[in-house]
Amino acid sequence: MSTKTRLAQQLAVVAGFEDPRVDLEQYRTPPDVAAHLIHTADLQGDIEDRIVVDLGTGTGMLALGAVLRGPETVVGLDLDPDPLATARANERRVAAAADVEWVRGDATNVPLAPDGPTTVVMNPPFGAQSGNEHADRGFLATAAEISDVSYSIHNAGSQDFVESFAADNGGTVTHAFAAELDLPHQFEFHDSASQTIDVEVFRVAWDD
Ligand code: SAH
Repeated sequence: MSTKTRLAQQLAVVAGFEDPRVDLEQYRTPPDVAAHLIHTADLQGDIEDRIVVDLGTGTGMLALGAVLRGPETVVGLDLDPDPLATARANERRVAAAADVEWVRGDATNVPLAPDGPTTVVMNPPFGAQSGNEHADRGFLATAAEISDVSYSIHNAGSQDFVESFAADNGGTVTHAFAAELDLPHQFEFHDSASQTIDVEVFRVAWDD
């Protein structure tokens, strides 16, 4: 079995949101997509011995993926305290060797100043459904501020936006890949049992 498949299996135990809030676009990043993102980051040398910060950590999926790959420390940050309780329970489920620091805070105005090489991972709100287009902009601004490299999941068609945001903020998109999010029927405006959304994942290298 590939190490990526193994990671997806380890992350399959991560429970979803108990009572997801539509306004905060709370849905769990699927284990296979999280495993793909973290595995790619690990192959690039962006996880091991580094500080990893998961912005909008929710259930902790990406933070817990990172903690399974030998980081120095992992911080999972979310505005809403409820999923942080779920994330703590999920941490016990994956039985990671290191602890995650769970922090309540606003990802667009972070109470963090990591001291050392830092990687941001995130599946921020897209803002597409709320008409709040590019709600992910503030998350990218934080990545630019606190990290040397970030991995972020955006809705399909975001490449121009992410590339120009990066260019304006001292960053360069070095990798891009497409993925699909299979979302459960969790929000009332989803009229089928599940829904697949096309997304894009970007690695951005940020200048100091
Ligand atoms: N990778 C997460 C994805 C969660 S969805 C998972 O698999 O669970 C997006 C998350 O961003 C939600 O948990 C939501 O509460 C959080 N969020 C939304 N706006 C935020 C903000 N301004 N600051 C911090 N977290 C925020």
